[in-house]
Amino acid sequence: MPWFRVVRITLLLLIFVGVAFYSKTQRLKSRSWSEPLEAVVYPINGEGSPLIERYIDSLDDEVFAEIDEFFRREGEYYNVSASPPIKISLGPKLNEHPPVSPKPDANILAIAWWGLRFRYWAYRHTPDDESNLRRIRIFTHYHEVQPEKKLQHSLGLDKGLLAIVHAFASERQQAQNNIVIAHELLHTVGATDKYDKNGEPIFPHGYAGPEHQPLYPQSRAEIMAARIPLSNNSSRMADSLKQCIIGEKTAQEINWLKPESAN
Ligand SMILES: [Zn+2]
Repeated sequence: MPWFRVVRITLLLLIFVGVAFYSKTQRLKSRSWSEPLEAVVYPINGEGSPLIERYIDSLDDEVFAEIDEFFRREGEYYNVSASPPIKISLGPKLNEHPPVSPKPDANILAIAWWGLRFRYWAYRHTPDDESNLRRIRIFTHYHEVQPEKKLQHSLGLDKGLLAIVHAFASERQQAQNNIVIAHELLHTVGATDKYDKNGEPIFPHGYAGPEHQPLYPQSRAEIMAARIPLSNNSSRMADSLKQCIIGEKTAQEINWLKPESAN
């Protein structure tokens, strides 16, 4: 094998090992919940339009306050020692876009390679320091509102405390944007999705009240399903985080609840 190939492969392996080690430390620190985790929303103008620019300039911490409120309320329910468990704030606007995320059906190598590039990009644009072991970075692309417009999928990495969110640049969409941010944020600390391939909440873990009699209609949504079940094959999006809860399965995944003490 030519020497430069050996060097290149060795270097890549070292990077993978380094990243894996860093992720492990980050995961331990971020899921101890002994003090609040910091989450920062970095707005990005998704379409380069002046309208979005104005919307981004109008943002402040207050816009995300209901996310803190949601985590405070749910944290109290599960007796989490950090109160609030998560403290969210608005970070500076970014002019660069993260590397384009892979399609859901991309192969595992393509996803791993993108993950590395995304981490490197995040490191360059929001420099790493000690606090990044406990800081969740949410890169939020804002888009103009248009009827029937579908946004790209948002995603939260289950390692690295990084998320990419696609949101609408509109005050009327803020409550929905906050649901998406809270959902992706939970992915970064280990929560998994609780909806099926049609987007319907999976029983029982995707239900806020799986024990309710009668079961339908439900009045609230489990945050990792984000939809309120109305019957066994229909549901509606929650209006705001006030209608969402963190279910027991999600609470276990993020280390808020010990598996043996749950049903
Ligand atoms: Zn999800």
